[in-house]
Amino acid sequence: MNDPLEEQREATQVLAGDLTAEAARLDAADPLAAHLDAFAEAPGVSAYLDGNSLGRPLKETPDKVAAFIRHDWGTRLIRSWDEQWMDLPVRLGDRIAEVALGAAPGQTIVADSTSVLLYKLMRAALAGRPGRSEIVIEAGNFPTDRFIAAGIAAEVGATVRWIEPDPIIGVTAEDVAAVLSEQTALVVLSHVDYRSGALADMPSVTKTVKDAGALMLWDLCHSAGVVPMQLDEWGVDIAVGCTYKYLGGGPGSPAFAYLRAEHQGVLRQPIHGWWSAADIFAMGPEYAPVGDIRQLLSGTPPVMSMLAMQDMLDHLADAGITAVRAKSISLTDFAVRAYDELLAPLGVRLLSTRSAAHRGGHITIGHPDFQQVTQQLWGEGVIPDFRFPDGIRLGLSPLSTSHAETLRGIVAVRDALL
Ligand SMILES: *Cc1c(COP(=O)(O)O)cnc(C)c1O
Repeated sequence: MNDPLEEQREATQVLAGDLTAEAARLDAADPLAAHLDAFAEAPGVSAYLDGNSLGRPLKETPDKVAAFIRHDWGTRLIRSWDEQWMDLPVRLGDRIAEVALGAAPGQTIVADSTSVLLYKLMRAALAGRPGRSEIVIEAGNFPTDRFIAAGIAAEVGATVRWIEPDPIIGVTAEDVAAVLSEQTALVVLSHVDYRSGALADMPSVTKTVKDAGALMLWDLCHSAGVVPMQLDEWGVDIAVGCTYKYLGGGPGSPAFAYLRAEHQGVLRQPIHGWWSAADIFAMGPEYAPVGDIRQLLSGTPPVMSMLAMQDMLDHLADAGITAVRAKSISLTDFAVRAYDELLAPLGVRLLSTRSAAHRGGHITIGHPDFQQVTQQLWGEGVIPDFRFPDGIRLGLSPLSTSHAETLRGIVAVRDALL
C-alpha cells in the first residue's frame, strides 16, 4: 500500500465518515427540513448545487401552471387582464419586497430581464444627476452589469470608473470612497458577488455613496431570497434582481426592480412603452408618464413566467428569510468544513471567505482540473457549475438543499480528483 493516491483516498474516507454523521445530525436538527420535500424530484440527480443559478421547481407548480392555462387563460380569456393580470407586476413586486427585500409596498415591480432593467435604471440614474458624468462599477461584477454600464457610457458620453477590490473579501465602503468624486452620478455593485459569494456591507456602502451625492444601484441577483436586507431602512435608491435563482421563477422568469418612493416621478426610465403611461388605455398622441412604480414597465408583462415564483415566495414567506439565512450559513459553514477535510489536502483552493457574516449563499473552490471535473460530475448527476478559469461554484439554496446533499457533492469532487 505505497500508492500515495490510495493512501490519500483512505485518509479522506475516514474523514468523510465523520462528515456524514455530522451532516445527518445537522439535517435532523434543521427546522426547515420539511421544505426539502416540496421540490420536484430530478431522477438521476444526487446533488444539485446550482440552485443559486436556476432554482428547482416545486412539486405543486406543474398543476398550477396547467390550471392557469385551462382556466385563467383558456376560460376567462382576455377578461383575465381586468380580473387579475393588469396589477400583477405591482402585486408580485410588493410580495417580493415583503418576503425578501425589507421594502414597503409600491416601490418594487416585476418586469423584463435583469439586463434590461439595469439598462433602464442606469439610464434613469444618470439622467437624474445632471452635471455628473461617471458610473462607478466593480471590475469583477457580472458581465451583463459591466457591459451595460460601458454601453451606456459610450451612448451618453459618460465615463466608467472601475473598482478592483480583493476578489475574496469583495468591495468595501473604503474601496468605494476611494473613487467617489463630484463627478460620480451612479455606483453599481452586486450585493453578493456571483463568483466568490462575498457579501457587501449594503448599509455602509449605500451611505458612503449617498453622502457623496451619487445614486446607489444594487444588483440583488445572488442575494434576493437568501440574504435578508432592509432596502427602505438602509436608504437604497435603486435595486435590480432576478427571480429564477433563489426565487424559483424558472428559466427566463422576469426580473424585479426597486425604486425608492422619493425617486418615483423624478427618475425616469427611457423606454416609454404604453405600460408606463399615465393612462394605459388613453391611446393619446403623446406620452405622459405615470408617476408611480409602473413607470419602470415598458410593454405587456410575461404573465405565464410569473407563476412559478409565486409558489416559491409562499415557501420563503412560510420559512421566513431570517431562518433561511440561518440555514444558508449552516450549509456554507458545513461546505467549508468538508472542503478543509476532503479537498484542501488535494490542492483545491478556497476562493470564498471563511467568515459567514461576509458571505452569501454559495462558495467557490478552485483547481486547474475543474473544467473537466465539472463535465464528469454533470454526467454522474452531481451538478455544480463551472466558472472560468478554474472555479467550481457550490450554490446551496437553503430550502431545497440538505447538508447530506452538500456532502455528496463535495465527496464527488474529491473522487473525481483522486
Ligand atoms: C444572474 C445575473 C444576472 C442575469 O441577468 P439576466 O438579464 O437575467 O440574464 C445579472 N447580474 C447578476 C449579478 C447575475 O448574477
